[in-house]
Amino acid sequence: MRFVHLSLLTLCLCLMVVVSGCNNSSDDNTTPATNQLPDAFSKFVNDSEVTLDGDFVVIKAKGIPNHGSPYYERNNSLYEAYNGTNVNYMQNPNVISEQNYTFRIPLNPAEASRKEATGFGAIGVAINGVAIFNQFAAPGDDLSQEINTFDQYNGHPTSSGTYHYHIEPLYLTNNNQDGLVGFLLDGFPIYGPMENGKTITNADLDAYHGHSHATTDYPSGIYHYHITTESPYINGDGYFGTAGTVTQ
Ligand SMILES: [Zn+2]
Ligand SMILES: [Zn+2]
Repeated sequence: MRFVHLSLLTLCLCLMVVVSGCNNSSDDNTTPATNQLPDAFSKFVNDSEVTLDGDFVVIKAKGIPNHGSPYYERNNSLYEAYNGTNVNYMQNPNVISEQNYTFRIPLNPAEASRKEATGFGAIGVAINGVAIFNQFAAPGDDLSQEINTFDQYNGHPTSSGTYHYHIEPLYLTNNNQDGLVGFLLDGFPIYGPMENGKTITNADLDAYHGHSHATTDYPSGIYHYHITTESPYINGDGYFGTAGTVTQ
């Protein structure tokens, strides 16, 4: 009898070790704090400049696309007449102009205890230095109407020439559906609409439009946003973390 009890006890202890081992690995879904620039930031292109300043990553960017657009001046080498698929395309009267962005985003992003809504203007930056705006149009406008002014890569400029994406930046995702697209101001990365061969839908994501697990750039796991083809497209109810700042 004593022998049986001991074996049972041993079995129970083993099970506990296995179960707690599983728990540990699922809780440990965040990249450890660092004081170095994560490799993911080396993916910035188009003359974007990325440096480290204490607890912040500083991204200086020009905010102009590295792809063709009918919103470039006609004498610009990147001028490209509209050749997208939207039969209701209607160009707005604005023209792309260079910006002087400085984004300061947390080096070690963390979940905010109080989530803040995103505002009008840049809420993040794509890896080509173009601003990311939220799912809402300029005050007084309706994004479902504004969508008809998006060029063949899904961007358009404001009246002050600020080019931006509200939805999937097609130039960045066309050949890289599951790649890094950029960062929101809270320092959390944004990924494309696919993952492990599967298209991500809103149902796969939380209210902020993200979830946590390992990615190629963050093998220890990180919270990240995903782009989907349906509203709210990039971000949902606001920043998951605490937003940094942007000046223009
Ligand atoms: Zn817009
Ligand atoms: Zn994911």
